[in-house]
Amino acid sequence: MDVDSLKHDVLIIGGGPSGLSTALHLQRIAPHLAPRILILEKARYPRPKLCAGGLVLDAEILLQRLGLDVREVPHVDAKSIKFDFYGRGLNIRVPRKHALRVIRRDEFDNWLAEKTRELGIEIREEVTVKNVFPQTDKVVVETEQETFHAQIVVGADGSNGITRRCIFPNAPVHTARVLEVLTPEYNVIARKRAKPDEASSWRRGDTIPAMNGEIASGKNALRNYGDAYFEFSPVPDNIAGYVWDFPTQLNNKPMRCWGIYDTNLLAGEKRPQLKRPLAEEMARFGIDLNDYEIKGYPIRWFSPQSPMSASRVLLVGDAAGADPLLGEGISMALGYGALAAREISESFQRNEFSFNGYKRRVVRSALGQSLFARWFIAHMIYPLKWRWFQFLLWRMMKPLLILIARVFVLNWGKRMPAL
Ligand SMILES: Cc1cc2nc3c(=O)[nH]c(=O)nc-3n(C[C@H](O)[C@H](O)[C@H](O)COP(=O)(O)OP(=O)(O)OC[C@H]3O[C@@H](n4cnc5c(N)ncnc54)[C@H](O)[C@@H]3O)c2cc1C
Repeated sequence: MDVDSLKHDVLIIGGGPSGLSTALHLQRIAPHLAPRILILEKARYPRPKLCAGGLVLDAEILLQRLGLDVREVPHVDAKSIKFDFYGRGLNIRVPRKHALRVIRRDEFDNWLAEKTRELGIEIREEVTVKNVFPQTDKVVVETEQETFHAQIVVGADGSNGITRRCIFPNAPVHTARVLEVLTPEYNVIARKRAKPDEASSWRRGDTIPAMNGEIASGKNALRNYGDAYFEFSPVPDNIAGYVWDFPTQLNNKPMRCWGIYDTNLLAGEKRPQLKRPLAEEMARFGIDLNDYEIKGYPIRWFSPQSPMSASRVLLVGDAAGADPLLGEGISMALGYGALAAREISESFQRNEFSFNGYKRRVVRSALGQSLFARWFIAHMIYPLKWRWFQFLLWRMMKPLLILIARVFVLNWGKRMPAL
């Protein structure tokens, strides 16, 4: 094979939700391009991807518009999402629906890749891109195996992606630190919410009550199996984020997915080791973090200053920037795919590939407005880290928070342009 003759119109680097969504949307709005799309994926499906797998309704809306039913993927539905500070706070429910659908990413991405292939789009697995060189009339993409030439390239290669590093080597990078742990379903969560709120009087650094077995035996059960929890008690200790605890499944066995997210917005301050607040929170429920394997991965988050495109190259998903507030990125990845597909389709119509207007398109879209709102809110609430403020915020300002969440943060999927 002549290694320099491989030419495609659209080369997508990375077969995660953002890359697959770009291809699926392109197939819908510019079907003539579908046979000329190639996705390069460095792993083989079903490939592991560190992620809690929480899908908000916006993700489901975007998938439905593509004619896809995510219920085909094994999942667990959380009835409500709790945003707590020391065990109490906001409760988000969606009338007659689940609040969060939790999938495993190896299964979800494999399913999405199958759907993409069924539409005739080629995905090449186990191809790792090493370099991306935009030129005036094409983009040269070097992989370990061969060299590809494409009209345009979509960088969908995630938070540590090579595309962004090649195109914007000096652009500032904003990343969150994230750790994740899978544990079996634990006893206390099977119980209904218990009445006394003993744990809410517990303060970080106190002797950890769960260690004496009381909480593990269910005496102070505070959690329901069917709920997803975000606990913001690490914020006063300069961890600008939260500990999560989601219901999930592994091979159809009920499990819990725990983790800690830190935007790094308070990186200049003295902080405990990242795993410490996670260990303390898990210990409240009788679980010893040391018994489980901890995995970590960064999340690159959206900033209004970050570049998103260069001539013939555009970025989607984490490569462009996920949600800074909570580190949510699956729905965003799907949304970026919808916007990139429209931009690409119009560029081919005009035969002009500067992608000058791509960032404007993203920022003005419902997705961009939600990302901006989340960026703004993260910069407001995490630096105001004092215990009293966080207490007021999560416990006393519920109506205001729910209003802000409904208007600025959630429900953007419905407002995305129709296909
Ligand atoms: C611990 C953790 C928990 C999270 N929990 C949630 C959650 O509950 N809900 C949520 O919405 N978001 C969550 N996120 C964020 C979410 O995982 C990401 O936002 C999402 O995966 C972004 O999708 P993407 O397609 O942009 O990138 P990815 O999913 O990272 O996909 C990138 C793809 O590119 C491939 N690739 C990378 N480099 C190359 C290369 N050089 N050549 C070829 N292929 C390459 C990778 O193998 C991968 O398949 C979490 C993230 C972490 C780290």
